[in-house]
Amino acid sequence: MPIRVLAPEVANQIAAGEVVERPASAVKELIENSLDAGANDIRVEVREGGQRLIRVQDDGCGIPAEEASVAFLRHATSKISSTDDLNCITTLGFRGEALASIASVAQVTVLTRTADADAGTLIRLIDGREVEHGLAGAPAGTTITVEHLFANIPARLKFLKQPATEAAHIQQVVTRYALAYPERRFSLLSDGKLLFQSTGTGKLVDVLARVYGLEMAKQMIEVGADASEEADTRRGPGVSGYAGAPSLHRGNRGLITLFVNRRWFQDASIAYAVVQAYHTLLPTGRFPVAVIFLEIDPGDVDVNVHPTKAEVRFREPNLIFSAVQKTVRRALVDYAPVPRADTNVTGMPGAWPHEPGAAAWAGGEGWTERRGALLAAGHGGQVPMPLRHDDRAGAGSDWLESGSAPAAATPIIPPSPQPDRPPLMPILRVVGQLAATYIVAEGPDGMYLIDQHAAHERILYEQMLAEHATNKLVVQPLLDPLVIDLSAEHAAVVAEELDTLAQLGLALEPFGGASYLLRSVPAILARDGGQPERAVIEILDGLAQRDDVVETTREARLVTLICKRAAIKGNTPMSLPEMQELVRRLEACRSPRTCPHGRPTMVYMSAADLARQFGRP
Ligand code: ADP
Ligand code: MG
Repeated sequence: MPIRVLAPEVANQIAAGEVVERPASAVKELIENSLDAGANDIRVEVREGGQRLIRVQDDGCGIPAEEASVAFLRHATSKISSTDDLNCITTLGFRGEALASIASVAQVTVLTRTADADAGTLIRLIDGREVEHGLAGAPAGTTITVEHLFANIPARLKFLKQPATEAAHIQQVVTRYALAYPERRFSLLSDGKLLFQSTGTGKLVDVLARVYGLEMAKQMIEVGADASEEADTRRGPGVSGYAGAPSLHRGNRGLITLFVNRRWFQDASIAYAVVQAYHTLLPTGRFPVAVIFLEIDPGDVDVNVHPTKAEVRFREPNLIFSAVQKTVRRALVDYAPVPRADTNVTGMPGAWPHEPGAAAWAGGEGWTERRGALLAAGHGGQVPMPLRHDDRAGAGSDWLESGSAPAAATPIIPPSPQPDRPPLMPILRVVGQLAATYIVAEGPDGMYLIDQHAAHERILYEQMLAEHATNKLVVQPLLDPLVIDLSAEHAAVVAEELDTLAQLGLALEPFGGASYLLRSVPAILARDGGQPERAVIEILDGLAQRDDVVETTREARLVTLICKRAAIKGNTPMSLPEMQELVRRLEACRSPRTCPHGRPTMVYMSAADLARQFGRP
């Protein structure tokens, strides 16, 4: 055969294969057009899984009568005009292919009217050719009806699945856009049945409840809500959305939904960043549920990689990866509830625990009186609510005070939690110590076991970060500077982190070769008797490992390591006042339920659980 340029119908059909793979892809393109047209109400109706009929009706800007035919030409678009525009795409469509492609593989009818036109335009196309063009009454907006999809391409028809399966794909497409555009109203009717409807209130939680059901939506934690608090994340992409509590795990990654600038996309690596954020919180082989939105400069993402625009390319994928991972992790750690001690399940990490109701936190069921009576009876000198962080009366604690004498001058001022956030742990009464490692305490609704090391790490971590943020970090100079000989690996770490170390009170001075002079340590490390050298080595070890997934800044990472070293160890007997002091300071923490590594500081056993264990009625 001689070489010939293909007829437009043939070329369109070939192109259609890329854009319109199945009914759901046609629905996607039509919804995108409606969104680009500024529609607030988008109604999708399908019959027989979309193969028989797809209709998308919107109340958008409509297509001017004189342009309606042009819209069906290939590469006809109102959204871009030059290649420069390709570098900064702000609409969902831009390739000018969808209508031409759909029309080449189905019968299409368009009814459209702009707000200022008296009459609407009606166009019918068969196999991409106009067979009817006239005036018709129409509401402002556009309705596009696609019938007998792929009827002219038997090969493609063969690959369609059962109507129910195709309808499920369509539903997935509609719900994704509903999530991305909570302020618009979407509905989906399939064979006359309402499959989905969003309310258009603008609140993502409302859509989450519609998509996943109320029960599941209740277990989703807001992500990135306090991004403004973290100076460091401001440079990177905006990350927001909702992430499921660790109890919401699934067998695959199918419920990790990603959007960039409100465009749904697929990306195994970013999905993995979400999974990584749940490190140690989910049973192995299980995957989280999450809806994550990235907000980035349109110039930093290329959406023109794939005809269906399902894949995107980031200019700085690593930056995006770590921002997603850290923001999700931060939300999980901040809101981690108290794991429930379950005598039947052996310590499954991330079993989503009991979340005592607000009434219990506030001290319901006579707890306040009971606690007051216990206090009066000499069970401890704690001051009941409201908490006062600088109140140290009667604690007389040795190790708690030694490093924190200066801290008395700079009381811990944790960033105040959001006003509508319930307290993250109840007021506890210390009962005693177990195995010299756990503090046994009673709360309003059961028993709490607190890991003394993890709890102290949390306390010191928040204290040190707050002091650092306000330039009030207390540093202990060494009277005799210590010469420390470092391994090559540690010397390399020090060379790289010298400034950060100094900022946090670890002043090291090069002393020839791999030797350094240690001139000061953070005050919280000073209680470590004569062992500052071992402390430094341990911290450098931690820095060299670089396996921390939680911290957003170098400082925070270093603070974690310093606090790990400074915190009271397990297997250390504590006096009652010491334990009371520790618990009181934990109560004042912003995220008291987890240590800085994200592990729980406490586990909980409810009074009801205990009663059940003892077979009490
Ligand atoms: P693209 O969306 O990439 O521009 P399409 O083939 O999907 O290409 O649409 C072609 C053009 O038709 C659009 O640029 C737009 O001007 C117009 N159009 C399509 N659908 C609608 C709609 N629902 N409302 C208003 N205009 C529309
Ligand atoms: Mg389009």
